[in-house]
Amino acid sequence: MNTKFIFISGGVASSLGKGIIASSLAKLLQARGLRVTIQKFDPYINIDPGTLNPYEHGECYVTEDGAETDLDLGHYERFLGVHTSQANNVTTGRIYHTVITREREGAYLGKTVQIVPHITDEIKRRMLLLGQTGDYDVILTEIGGTVGDMESQPFVEAVRQLQWELPEEDCMTIHLTLIPYLHAAQELKTKPTQHSVQMLQKAGVKPDVIVCRTEHPLSEDLRRKIALFCNVRPGHVIQSIDAWSIYQVPLNMHEEHLDELAVRKLQIENFNEPNLGRWKEFLQRLAHPSHEVQITLVGKYVELQDAYKSIQEAFVHAGAAYECKVHVKTLQSEHINADNVAELLSGADGILVAPGFGERGLEGKIHAVRYAREKGIPFLGICLGMQMCVVEFARNVLGWKDAVSTEVNTQTKHPVIDMMEDQKKTTIKGGTMRLGAYACQLEAGSLVASLYGTTEISERHRHRYEFNSKYLEDFTKAGLKASGRNPQTGLVEVVELPGHPFFIGVQFHPEYKSTPENPHPLFKGLVKAALDNKK
Ligand code: GLN
Repeated sequence: MNTKFIFISGGVASSLGKGIIASSLAKLLQARGLRVTIQKFDPYINIDPGTLNPYEHGECYVTEDGAETDLDLGHYERFLGVHTSQANNVTTGRIYHTVITREREGAYLGKTVQIVPHITDEIKRRMLLLGQTGDYDVILTEIGGTVGDMESQPFVEAVRQLQWELPEEDCMTIHLTLIPYLHAAQELKTKPTQHSVQMLQKAGVKPDVIVCRTEHPLSEDLRRKIALFCNVRPGHVIQSIDAWSIYQVPLNMHEEHLDELAVRKLQIENFNEPNLGRWKEFLQRLAHPSHEVQITLVGKYVELQDAYKSIQEAFVHAGAAYECKVHVKTLQSEHINADNVAELLSGADGILVAPGFGERGLEGKIHAVRYAREKGIPFLGICLGMQMCVVEFARNVLGWKDAVSTEVNTQTKHPVIDMMEDQKKTTIKGGTMRLGAYACQLEAGSLVASLYGTTEISERHRHRYEFNSKYLEDFTKAGLKASGRNPQTGLVEVVELPGHPFFIGVQFHPEYKSTPENPHPLFKGLVKAALDNKK
């Protein structure tokens, strides 16, 4: 069987959840026994989202191979349980960068380099690239942005060309739109969808299926009307009604026959019912919790829901494992000081100090760490959160009042968190951190080793600064244990506090690897400890 390609565009409004629809369809096809991956094409000029402030597009998701990618790749991995890579996220910036570099090399032999065909050729090459690995039966491609935007036009044009270049049975297009409900008229409105599909068709792309986001069920009449005006078959207009959890969406899409439409259009001889046993078990536990805990997430990007997406989702997975509803309360670290910390954290059964960059909110994070350490509250610090554990311990236990990370003060006498040697030479920002998966050796008998159930792990990184090994002995003597080290470099990756019910700081990002079917041991550990603490 040839590799099959499914393209998913969006119209009417942004934030309709294209990533969730793509992930849900991919999940259903995977559950039918097909090998599936998803990729995202983003229309912005940044080479990757690594240099973007989380307030812009939410969290930056990091893959095994160290690519800094759009947060939708997190959904892809969580739904499918398979790794993505650099090839799964392409931006306009990366496309242009490749074409312009080739132009400078003289590769175009004096030709005028143009959007069509040179940019669109490069887009198409990348759209088909994962197909050449032979690893996938179906590749879903999410086109970022909204159809009609100037910046996504080259992507839509590339899809138009591929619709003719690929065999008809190897290519499918899905358009996701919004059907708004007008309260005053008490009516669902189809006009924005009609206009959006017209725009897509004007660009030469004919959708095979229209998925309609809606707050209310679509009647048969309404579906027929959309089909009639939008040039698709009746039966190919399906609803995506607001769901109680994003993880319910695959089941909703199956009820709407989206996977069946896909295998029929793509002539995939596959009549298996999707096997979603474990997924449904997870949903059962998620829907019927018998306990609840509050975890306070201390961070500086808390105003934007998506800034800590993977952490939030990891709590959903870990909570379900214990039939426990985890209420994640976000707390702006800038607002925390020595006087209000106890009050602000009073309801917390557990505390997580989040990753981050720069000085803003740093002191508040240190107050939160101290509170968790001294009051015996279950605690997990991630990346910057781990670094602040080290700083807090240095200041308040070792008595080094000026201890800090050289990220914010290079003049300190106690640079307990310092830049790695090979980072010091780097002056450019994009793609220059320690990125992606690194091995970590856990100390036998430590809390982390017992949580993971092994001493050899691999986790993903995204940082410039490290625990300064010069001070390792001082920390160890004073009681902060380095229970995870990089086996090659000896760098400290995990610290923990024996004697405390649950106090762990990790230099890596466990949240990227948590999935509904495999909740992450550290998040499970924190939720379990928070439950015990509550009792
Ligand atoms: N700013 C810190 C560093 O670069 C931590 C990064 C993070 O939390 N992802 O090392």
